[in-house]
Amino acid sequence: MSGMNTCPETCPLKGNGCYAELGHSRIHWSRLTDGKVSTALEADQFIHAVASLPRNQFWRHNVAGDLPHKNGTIDDGFLTALTRANKGKMGFTYTHHALSVENLKSIEKANKNGFTVNVSANTVQAATLLKQTSKLPVVCILPIDAPNVQTVNDVKVVACPAEKSDKVTCSTCQLCQHANRDFVIGFRAHGVSKKKVDIIARG
Ligand code: SF4
Repeated sequence: MSGMNTCPETCPLKGNGCYAELGHSRIHWSRLTDGKVSTALEADQFIHAVASLPRNQFWRHNVAGDLPHKNGTIDDGFLTALTRANKGKMGFTYTHHALSVENLKSIEKANKNGFTVNVSANTVQAATLLKQTSKLPVVCILPIDAPNVQTVNDVKVVACPAEKSDKVTCSTCQLCQHANRDFVIGFRAHGVSKKKVDIIARG
């Protein structure tokens, strides 16, 4: 997790259905943001910890939070250092930061160099159009009743398989880590705020 201040103001889920703002995730995330977690790492300590992971280690960054930024521009120095630390490992994350020219450059560089940064879109239309026009790994939120697999704008959209199976975890699936995949991964609106998220996903 990264502190709440890493999330962009532009994220439509902020204060409006983000799963991490509820329940146990919220409690831990708030404590982390308020500096009350004794095991929390500063950025340089975190990068060092990633560099120390065993070769081929699969790991996920930011169950909550986003990439550090200044006024919406991703901290390229941090992301470059994290990407370097991830060399030989299988790290991945997601970002809801706006795709400005600077952010795109940072995200593309990380993906090209082995640290997968999935770009989060808000609707399946936006996600599939982005997939058509870029080489980025793209994810999106989906309406509650979205099918497991669909094709939109000639792009395949696969719903996260862990949503409907207790046997699937990120460790066994690993789809989000594949930066060069030619399909979009979707996450159906779920949890306490699913109605709010469903409205956003329907555009
Ligand atoms: S698609 Fe796979 S890797 Fe991505 S969140 Fe779902 S289970 Fe994890």
